Amino acid sequence: MLTLPSQDKMYQALLDRDGCYDGVFYIAVKTTGIFCRPICPARKPLRKNVEFFAEPKEAVYAGYRPCKRCKPLDRVQQMPDWVRKATSLAEALPEERVTEYQLREAGISPDRLRRWFKTNYGMSFQSYQRGLRLGQAFGQLRKGQSVIETSVDSGWESTSGFRDAFQKAFGTAPRDAAGPMFAMRWIETPLGPMVAIADDSALYLLEFADRPMLASQMKTLHRRYKCSVAPGMNDVLRLLEKELASYFAGELQSFSVPLDARGTEFQCAVWDRLLEIPYGGLLSYGEMARDLDRAGAQRAVGKANGDNRLAILIPCHRVVRSDGSLCGYGGGLWRKKRLLEIEQGQARLV
Ligand SMILES: [Zn+2]
Repeated sequence: MLTLPSQDKMYQALLDRDGCYDGVFYIAVKTTGIFCRPICPARKPLRKNVEFFAEPKEAVYAGYRPCKRCKPLDRVQQMPDWVRKATSLAEALPEERVTEYQLREAGISPDRLRRWFKTNYGMSFQSYQRGLRLGQAFGQLRKGQSVIETSVDSGWESTSGFRDAFQKAFGTAPRDAAGPMFAMRWIETPLGPMVAIADDSALYLLEFADRPMLASQMKTLHRRYKCSVAPGMNDVLRLLEKELASYFAGELQSFSVPLDARGTEFQCAVWDRLLEIPYGGLLSYGEMARDLDRAGAQRAVGKANGDNRLAILIPCHRVVRSDGSLCGYGGGLWRKKRLLEIEQGQARLV
């Protein structure tokens, strides 16, 4: 995660179309679902509708599409024609994966493309495509929320392509006839957007939206609960939003949101142990393994940590290496670091 200038500075740079900031940050407009470079010639959005990102991939994962006018993905200016051809293919078919065959047909070497994306954007072409697909599902989710807020009865599924986008992104249908119906909510946080899933009695999933594991976690959730998912709101999600905001402001130390985390016996034991680590505290994988009478099983503990579907609330970010150094966090190391800084009083995010 790169550090960004202050929001005031960035918004001013945007109003000024200040070329000095080109490549420093990207600006996304919530109302249109599009992200731009600061120098974009398009009409300037209102500040309340704007989100800032340090890198194009963050905007893509947060559910934004690149602007056709300022072409924020062409940051390096000399995006070669063959790469542009590939991104056009992906953007024309956001719901499908562009296959290696299609790339070759278009005269593009898949390997070369993968390497180019890694070098220039720090992501593979495949992750870029996955980002577009997730982005589409989440873009729909974000739009659907305002629909729900204005009219609960308007019927989400009839007003958007959420169902299709969701299925393409997660490989499961959001709504099956049988099974409980869970509500899915998009929550903006200072560390990036999160996705929350809950019903009236408990929270089942809370994860950063850009996390590659999210798709498989959705499948696990579906398998464990036979649930259907639709955008929505309920008391558990309202409480979660309120408590997360206080947590990020450094004002809340323990959550009262009811949790439901089903897993294997071992996973549940690990997650229970995690819940006992106090706010501001740390534990090593080795200590955890010993506490669970599985001395030496650090790897298994680490794996169960990674399978945690309730980020922040089941505090897997409080586990470190034996020497105290940070390692492995599904949401990205920078997030783990920031979470620990909040808890240790070194940072206040509002
Ligand atoms: Zn633009």
